[in-house]
Amino acid sequence: MKKLGVLIVLCCGMTAFAQKSMEKDFSAIEDKVIEWRRYFHEHPELSNREFETAEKIADHLKSLGIEVQTGVAHTGVVGVLKGNKPGKVVALRADMDALPVTERNDLPFKSNVTSEYLGSEVGVMHACGHDTHIAILMGVAEVLSKNKDKIKGTVKFIFQPAEEGAPPGEEGGAALMIKEGVLQNPDVDAIFGLHINSQTPVGMIRYKSGGTMAAAQRFVINVKGKQSHGSQPWSGVDPILISAKIIDGLQTIISREMNLTNEAAVITVGKITSGVRNNIIPESAEIVGTIRTLDYDMQEQLNRRMKEMVSSIAEAYRGEATTEIASGTAITYNNPELVSQMIPTMEAVAGKENVVVAKAVTGAEDFSFYQEKVPGFFFFLGGMTPGTTESYPHHTPDFRIDDSGLLLGVKTLTAMSLDYLNSDKTPRLENQPKG
Ligand SMILES: [Zn+2]
Ligand SMILES: [Zn+2]
Repeated sequence: MKKLGVLIVLCCGMTAFAQKSMEKDFSAIEDKVIEWRRYFHEHPELSNREFETAEKIADHLKSLGIEVQTGVAHTGVVGVLKGNKPGKVVALRADMDALPVTERNDLPFKSNVTSEYLGSEVGVMHACGHDTHIAILMGVAEVLSKNKDKIKGTVKFIFQPAEEGAPPGEEGGAALMIKEGVLQNPDVDAIFGLHINSQTPVGMIRYKSGGTMAAAQRFVINVKGKQSHGSQPWSGVDPILISAKIIDGLQTIISREMNLTNEAAVITVGKITSGVRNNIIPESAEIVGTIRTLDYDMQEQLNRRMKEMVSSIAEAYRGEATTEIASGTAITYNNPELVSQMIPTMEAVAGKENVVVAKAVTGAEDFSFYQEKVPGFFFFLGGMTPGTTESYPHHTPDFRIDDSGLLLGVKTLTAMSLDYLNSDKTPRLENQPKG
């Protein structure tokens, strides 16, 4: 117990020292970060179309003397900053894409941008707050580039397109960045990322060790029956009735078979298609939905039982059914060793009382793909005006972020990078539980 106390004091002491000597850099950067954020907010671009966003980021990194690679995974920008001393490599990731949402507020930097999306004209808005992520990471790059003497190793800045998903028929996002080698040359030892949160007050950080955001899997069930006249069901096999039984059965996997005291799990049917008119029992039905899990053993069990149950139910009613489950997004899994290594740093920056453990969420993040390759830590940063009670959720027209919360993001990612690189500890993927 005593030993632990000493360790924490030593660790925080180092952070506090580094932070103090950089305080002037932090206060000098806040106005710029807010200005960048407002610029990106006013000029949002959809997934895989972040052309001007990428150009502005690349110009900034180049102006700092950072080695820059552009056009990674379409519009991605990667910067490599080498410290004065050799050492490990830490990556910091910001996503850059906006959403097809029409902004509804009276902000002076409100977006009036429209664009074509899946054949229709839509409003475009940074309705998930990725504008803040870009601005924060540009700020971290500027502060760190002025403090190369404190960097033992290398910092890789990853500005990633299409976190919200590439348009149909296109590849994109974290998976494509990895495929194009973003975690290599130099090889990344650990990765950090954050997400602004409209429901967490400014000044606060929320995190969870282990499974923090869910794996998302899309599924399609095809039910085959036998067409007949609606007046003579006995001469056919009704795929609509079978679908009803299947949908009912799927929810019992959640309620009767998943150990929900371990982690949450969700099956949602979002679409069902069958039939053409009132007096025809159709030949087939299609059920489409999403699965959310936070534990790979539970995911494996759920996937297996879905397939077994779907075909057994169909068979019981004289039909046939197949289940296809796409691999989807992985679990955003925070390496427990890395998390416990970094918590003292976060507490030193934000104040112990402002770093709180959060519950897992059933939303998904493609940051998870980096965490499958290297140990990673993804956390949430407060963006809600302190003292307010009303805050709108992400992906909605009224969504807004209080940008007084951004400086804490800059400070935290900067301190985490320095402390990670200066520490002898290097958590490894092979030491983490399956995930
Ligand atoms: Zn989003
Ligand atoms: Zn997001």
